[in-house]
Amino acid sequence: MKASRFFIGTLKEAPADAEIVSHQLMMRAGMIRRVAGGIYDYLPIGLRAIRKVEKIVREEMDAAGALEVLLPAVQPAELWQESGRWEQYGPELLRFKDRHQREFVVGPTHEEVITDVARREIRSYRQLPVNFYQIQTKFRDEIRPRFGVMRGREFIMKDAYSFDRDTDGLKASYQRMYDAYVRIFTRLGLRFRAVEADNGSIGGSGSHEFHVIADTGEDAIAFCPTSDFAANVEAAEALPLLPARGAADAALTKTSTPGRAKCEAVAELLGLPLERTVKSIVLAVDQPGATPDAAVHTQIWMLLLRGDHSLNEVKAFKLPGLGGARFATEAEIVEHFGTPPGYLGPIATRKPVKLLVDRTVARMSDFVCGANEADFHFTGVNWGRDLPEPDVADLRNVVAGDPSPDGRGTIELCRGIEVGHVFQLGTKYSEAMSATYLDEAGKPQPLQMGCYGIGVTRILGAAIEQNYDARGIIWPTSIAPFEVVICPMGYDRSETVRTEADRVYAALLAAGVDVVLDDRGERPGVMFADWELIGVPHRLVIGDRGLKDGKVEYQGRRDAEATLLPVAEADRLLI
Ligand code: ATP
Ligand code: MG
Ligand code: MG
Ligand code: MG
Repeated sequence: MKASRFFIGTLKEAPADAEIVSHQLMMRAGMIRRVAGGIYDYLPIGLRAIRKVEKIVREEMDAAGALEVLLPAVQPAELWQESGRWEQYGPELLRFKDRHQREFVVGPTHEEVITDVARREIRSYRQLPVNFYQIQTKFRDEIRPRFGVMRGREFIMKDAYSFDRDTDGLKASYQRMYDAYVRIFTRLGLRFRAVEADNGSIGGSGSHEFHVIADTGEDAIAFCPTSDFAANVEAAEALPLLPARGAADAALTKTSTPGRAKCEAVAELLGLPLERTVKSIVLAVDQPGATPDAAVHTQIWMLLLRGDHSLNEVKAFKLPGLGGARFATEAEIVEHFGTPPGYLGPIATRKPVKLLVDRTVARMSDFVCGANEADFHFTGVNWGRDLPEPDVADLRNVVAGDPSPDGRGTIELCRGIEVGHVFQLGTKYSEAMSATYLDEAGKPQPLQMGCYGIGVTRILGAAIEQNYDARGIIWPTSIAPFEVVICPMGYDRSETVRTEADRVYAALLAAGVDVVLDDRGERPGVMFADWELIGVPHRLVIGDRGLKDGKVEYQGRRDAEATLLPVAEADRLLI
């Protein structure tokens, strides 16, 4: 590429709303421009980096046997109604009507659509296993889009979906994707860690997130340096810590996310990041068989989310006889339970599910709790004094130095950016949407599914968070918009310089190096500042002085000083 024919949109200043380095630098380097909250134009420099990420992802997905498809961004509501997520997904799902008043969504993810493909296309066990993937724009109406492409509303994702006959097959497909992810993030040149994760609203069992380690990450990760243990500490910051942990073991029958819609409503009210709340569940307690009252739950959530633990304010327990008419007073609670009201802490969906209370509330048993939705109640919830301590794998209160759940060291904490996520979905969607195959006996069996996401555009932000300095971005070569920049000193003045710069440029191009020649005739200061800001990892400076000795200057973007190279070596840079 010749810079004179390229578009360079570098800026001196970043806009005021760019809070973190990657967002500031992507704006300043002319990679992206804001169109609306969480919605960006990708300018040529930005798109070049995106395409490089996509290429690596595509190569590794193909190598792992996945087959590329392209599914619609606009999806009919019926599919979401079939899976049950039309109700569950909440305001992050962008819904709209067409001219015939038929309802649609702009796809935030594609489990429904691909399950629909599978039930139409997969007939026999002979067609299994199969894995379909796509690289496509998603839309999620994030409550707080921020950090540029890191938490956009419109963003590019690679999503893959595996279909297997049985759980052994699913595990093998999952492992293949896990291994492909390790290769992808290694090739992207990122420092990352795979961590155990909870399954959020997608459901199912068995899930890992891939996190790029960075202080600006929105997630907290607990890991043990002396073992393999690493897990996402969901909601560790957003939710209040429980002062003293008495334990209660609820005979919970479901691990889905009850009350999601209400959690979302509360999150919106409080301006809290949605994902922090929906991945935790707060249980309210009702008398057996009572219909829980939305206000009761909402009040408890609000108190918890605000970190307001004052016992006097938690008056949200219903008592037998009170019905849903009003909250119990503290005196009534004391009278009934013989103890002042405690509060119920949030529980994580991570297995095994544990219910935490700040003190053991005696004499409660067989309660029904959960959300005000059919099938989202936990029944037979019991707790008492003699129950075991909470599972250490519940990490929300973990501090550095705590024992690792695997007993093989102590916990350390760091922050991470979730760039990839692999799930074993099982038959959640295939059962809801009747996606079956015929086994050898000709009997229909539900397809075992896995799903695997990578945040393509988020990776750009994450890579910058790990690789920058005062002058700008320092791209890993594998995803740099250009691998090498040639800066000629006096391209418009010196015949020798121009000839040699053109020659090295042509040689590198011919060798397949992604090189840009800065033929704009700009002053050295301007050239250097632009390419350092843009983050090109390798620079060749060609000037009359060096050429006299047959030399050009090479400087890696991280190098403190340039080194002199014989011209012939410049021709072989990166080859
Ligand atoms: P987060 O916890 O950050 O909200 P998620 O768990 O909701 O992400 P997934 O449903 O697992 O996201 O989607 C797969 C991948 O898509 C994520 O691992 C992430 O890299 C990317 N991704 C998700 N939401 C966004 C977003 N708003 N902007 C950019 N990338 C995103
Ligand atoms: Mg999310
Ligand atoms: Mg997540
Ligand atoms: Mg995720």
